[in-house]
Amino acid sequence: MFVSNWKIGRVLGIPIHVHASWFAVFFFVTWSLATGYLPETLPGLSESRYWGMGGISSLLMFLSVLLHELGHSYVALHYRIPISQITLFIFGGMAHMGKEPPNPRAEFLIALAGPLVSLLLGVGCLGGAMAVDALFSGLGLQGFVVLGGLLGMVNVQLGLFNLIPGFPLDGGRALRAGLWAWNKDFNRATSQAALTGIGFGVALGVIGAVVLAGAWSGVLGHSIAANGGWLILIGAFLFSAALSSKRQAAMRSSLAAVTVRQVMVHPVVTVPPDMAVQDAVDQYFVAHGFGGFPVCEEGQVVGVVTVGDVQAIATALWPWRRVRDIMCPVPQAFCIPPDWSVMQAMERMAHGGWDRLVVVEDGAIVGLITRSAIAQFLQLHQSEA
Ligand SMILES: [Zn+2]
Repeated sequence: MFVSNWKIGRVLGIPIHVHASWFAVFFFVTWSLATGYLPETLPGLSESRYWGMGGISSLLMFLSVLLHELGHSYVALHYRIPISQITLFIFGGMAHMGKEPPNPRAEFLIALAGPLVSLLLGVGCLGGAMAVDALFSGLGLQGFVVLGGLLGMVNVQLGLFNLIPGFPLDGGRALRAGLWAWNKDFNRATSQAALTGIGFGVALGVIGAVVLAGAWSGVLGHSIAANGGWLILIGAFLFSAALSSKRQAAMRSSLAAVTVRQVMVHPVVTVPPDMAVQDAVDQYFVAHGFGGFPVCEEGQVVGVVTVGDVQAIATALWPWRRVRDIMCPVPQAFCIPPDWSVMQAMERMAHGGWDRLVVVEDGAIVGLITRSAIAQFLQLHQSEA
């Protein structure tokens, strides 16, 4: 299998991953510093020195992006939001949060923590570079001054760019927090904030295209063409991320209004745990054509058996093994009441890693809700809308 993601360590208990696309950025930044920026600002050094300094600067920029994400993560962990990993990729970094923030205040603080870290680092580096320049001029520390200045500018830009109020950028998240506090509807706030993300995505793309056209026609310098291309890429990325957030919000709000009872399938066919696998195949899987069945004993759900469980053992063993031996045991959380919303059911499925849940009312099984039934329901109702 092609691996595109490498784990490089762990900070605050969070695994840090680097995506393959990050290496492209690393080499591009190192190359452009070593062959352009550094020889211009620090003339008279050897080529290997420029490449060494370029590499160190790129690594420190990578560290800056990581610290920005750790800023978000630190506040998120404070609100008990699990962070599964931090990924560094071509457009920067991303902290993968296990769930949505519990309230607008939490979302606001998590969103602003990253840019705050970047701006503080930026101001610190710029201040440090200026102090070294003023106090120790003539001591041959010009390299540190240039590096500090460069890193300071990068961090300030990182902080300011992320404050653009287009969701899902940090500024857009802060905006969503405000809209969420204002209209008390998380999905509606997401949808509105995503609109600004779409708008900023288009605007960045247009600005990038103008810059590119200017560079081509000779009005602007040729060296600025790469910036135009970069703006178009970032604009496209923001546009597509905002659009998918908007679609997801629309889906979530329609699923929040539908109850499990409306979507569940019934009556439910259950399998007894002491039946031979061969009999279960003949009498249930083949006869009904379903992908899986709850296993019930004295009215209680004790497990679930799927086609995959059956296929995992050799056909010759089917008459000799019982359903109980191959089923997946399930906890109480596998059963939900019919008046839950479909959204709640989906969250429960995601949390437990299941693709179906049993619906129980007054101690009796009344239905089964599956991912495929929800997908089918959505498809039917989207065409209505
Ligand atoms: Zn951020």
